[in-house]
Amino acid sequence: MASEEKAPCPLCNGRQWIITSEEKEKPCKCLRKKMLEDHLGPEITTARLIQSKLFIPGGDDRTQDNLFIKGTWTTVLSHLRWALGCKFNTKPDKPHRFCIETDAKVISVFVGAHSYMHRSKDTREDVDTYNSLEDLVEPHDLFILRLGFLGYANKAAAGSIKQALGVREVACKPTWIIETPNSIFGPGHFSYSNDLADYIEERFDVVDLRSKDDSPDEAQGFAVPVIPSSPESDPDADEVSMGGPSAPVDPQKYMPEERIRVDSGANEFELGGEKKKDRWKKKKGSNGEFGGDM
Ligand SMILES: [Zn+2]
Repeated sequence: MASEEKAPCPLCNGRQWIITSEEKEKPCKCLRKKMLEDHLGPEITTARLIQSKLFIPGGDDRTQDNLFIKGTWTTVLSHLRWALGCKFNTKPDKPHRFCIETDAKVISVFVGAHSYMHRSKDTREDVDTYNSLEDLVEPHDLFILRLGFLGYANKAAAGSIKQALGVREVACKPTWIIETPNSIFGPGHFSYSNDLADYIEERFDVVDLRSKDDSPDEAQGFAVPVIPSSPESDPDADEVSMGGPSAPVDPQKYMPEERIRVDSGANEFELGGEKKKDRWKKKKGSNGEFGGDM
């Protein structure tokens, strides 16, 4: 099979360009496929292929919206493959730029760990440097933020994430926030604050990609992203918050209650996919679609 895969493309004989009947050159399918794979990267390219409601050709394009997405990373990758792949194919000459970062990265950039001056002179020319949050989050057409990668409580966490989202908002660019079932964003989550949750609720549509058949994400070292919100209620709490190896915990036991919930607007989207809500910018109370009871 391996030799079969390496055989040159029969359409172009490996040339990657084909000549049309009007004697013009156009990229072969194999070149388009390679460009798409380069664009998406190996993690997304190898995800299971599904059709996602996040991008409906000729219809709904959710890559332009602020979304708070619930689902396992494995599932989310499949949706990214479809949505970002479709997005790329609509304008291969002017690729849609997306970027996937973690909450931990946002925070470390916020505190300056990735700045040019923070790097040693030997490495600063060779590694990516971000002198500000703007450098990290602003340039991309779509910024995808994965929650649950902080290994410890950090006072700057929620504030730096809010600031990152604010940068995107001011730039009028959409963000997707990913919440996985093993790192629920709620009180006790290392990236959580009420203020940040309020901010997200006001501006993001919730999309639920969870399914009963989902198996938990594998190979995630971030299954215990939370500290008990009321330590005195649990005698083992100190051990847990220290995160030492001698303190094995059941992640579900300390999983925060979800704060960002699927609202009716998101359900409409789930069912029909036709209802077009306002774009990424949401203002609480600006229309009837936001739950007034939050
Ligand atoms: Zn070819």
